[in-house]
Amino acid sequence: MQTSISDKTGDGVKIGLECHVQLTKLKTKLFCGCSADYRDREPNTSVCPVCLGLPGTLPVPNRKAFDFAMMISKALNCDIARLSSFYRKNYTYVDLPKNYQISQYEAADGSRTLARNGYLTLKVNGENKRVGIWRIQLEEDPGRNVFKGSITTSPETLVDYNRSGVALCEIVTAPDINSPREARLFAQKLRSIVEHLGVTDGGLQGSMRFDANISVGGGKSVEIKNITSFKAVQKALSFEISRQKSLRNRGAQVNRETRHYDELRKITVSLRTKETEEDYRYFRDPDLMPIRIGEDAIDAIAGEMQELPDARAERFATQYGLPEYDSGVLTSSKVLADFFEECVELHENPKKVANWLMTELLGYLNEKGLEIEDLKTTPGHIAALLKLIDDKTISGKIAKRVMREMLETGARPDEIVRARGLTKIADREELAGVVESVFEEFPDSVSDAVKDPKAANYLVGQVMRKTMGRADPEKTNKLVRERLEQVGAR
Ligand code: ZN
Ligand code: MN
Repeated sequence: MQTSISDKTGDGVKIGLECHVQLTKLKTKLFCGCSADYRDREPNTSVCPVCLGLPGTLPVPNRKAFDFAMMISKALNCDIARLSSFYRKNYTYVDLPKNYQISQYEAADGSRTLARNGYLTLKVNGENKRVGIWRIQLEEDPGRNVFKGSITTSPETLVDYNRSGVALCEIVTAPDINSPREARLFAQKLRSIVEHLGVTDGGLQGSMRFDANISVGGGKSVEIKNITSFKAVQKALSFEISRQKSLRNRGAQVNRETRHYDELRKITVSLRTKETEEDYRYFRDPDLMPIRIGEDAIDAIAGEMQELPDARAERFATQYGLPEYDSGVLTSSKVLADFFEECVELHENPKKVANWLMTELLGYLNEKGLEIEDLKTTPGHIAALLKLIDDKTISGKIAKRVMREMLETGARPDEIVRARGLTKIADREELAGVVESVFEEFPDSVSDAVKDPKAANYLVGQVMRKTMGRADPEKTNKLVRERLEQVGAR
């Protein structure tokens, strides 16, 4: 007998994300004085007995890490626990020198992680959608495994402990996300928030990493570990939905397991059957006292917080008169929002700036698969380009070509215009010459246009073509019509 899947639970895709945000703006690691800036160093040079897990050492918590994690908790509308504690999450892996990770845990004895019960609001198809936040916790990053090529095919693993002990803020969502695209939107918005808070630089490789739990149609949940880019979040989840659906269509079981997303091969591969909580043998870390956070500390943090993306979007709408959609796009990344505001300081038309950034600049980045951090051009150059249009030195059409070259090379717009001879032709004599040659070339169109003035547009178009868009449109129009009157009078 065939059973149909009901609409409500049905094909429903449920995704929960565990987001690890590295607090890259901290100078030191979470429990020792080693530099947290591990990226540009020789492997295994930013290490000490504490973060190497040598016996007899004691961890000392980094106060600033709590401030940063509290800011994230506030920004995500969470309740901050007055008392939270550190636990040992035990597992054995080469990147973990102590064989346990210091983390936080919600235990039966009432122990709490730093914060819980919050939400983040996403704009999905023009509607506000709330994604629940289950909990937020501080924990330490393991070391970094270095593979040759892909993790699944590398013949050997090298380990760099410079990252061992760097502070992570883990954010766990409810399974409220219903599509790979929504998951990507969530990740992007979270990045914009933590960048606005000034606690991390999301542009750094590996500074935001995601684990995703996904179930399709009420089936078993599969975990995909360690996804490191927004694009990969969407791709890994899309792949996983197809994989689970095709298993179900064949009548096969979806196993509860942990899979890895292989970015090179663009597939997920099984790593192991999923651990349960018990496998980690959590217990309270006897080296660390419980963390007590007073009301005054929470108030102090709230006072230090910078403007967040939603508030900034609202300000963009009122201060610059932008549509809600534009404000949302421009504040989707702190770097982009800052870039926009720097342009607006130099050019008085915010809507015009917004249009050029959203269509030409974002279009270019999208097409090339680049991030806003990769931009070669500057707000000064963008403002100068718009000024060239305002002054009618170049047409809008030519400006698009110039913008393209600015984005590709970083050159100044006036230099490009000069080097390529793109200045608008406004000289009457010069234009009249081009109009004359077009009239000679298209006698049939000329006689059409004498009878029907609307057909004159074709001749104007030919002048634009001959001058590669450089002819001043108003002057060309006027000249073509004058010349048509002369021809008609004959
Ligand atoms: Zn250390
Ligand atoms: Mn974690």
